[in-house]
Amino acid sequence: MMMTEKTTMWTTCRVCKNQVEMQVHIEDVTAWENGEKIQNAMPYLTPAEREVLISGTCEPCFDRIFGEDPVGDAETDYDIEFTNEGEN
Ligand SMILES: [Zn+2]
Repeated sequence: MMMTEKTTMWTTCRVCKNQVEMQVHIEDVTAWENGEKIQNAMPYLTPAEREVLISGTCEPCFDRIFGEDPVGDAETDYDIEFTNEGEN
């Protein structure tokens, strides 16, 4: 077992420019860059963290771009004002 400490790595989301922080072993990142599958190289990352590395997109942005929820279908706000027109 390797006992090296994890290193904090920041990946910038290319959509919202937020920086996503994650703890990684540098040698694992190197292994991934050399072709290892990310889930094998860094199984300790959350799916969201892996997504940032793979696609360069943070989870909220990824959901917004690739999410299956149809936009605007779930809830529609009708902005209707009832005015008493006879009050003049
Ligand atoms: Zn983002």
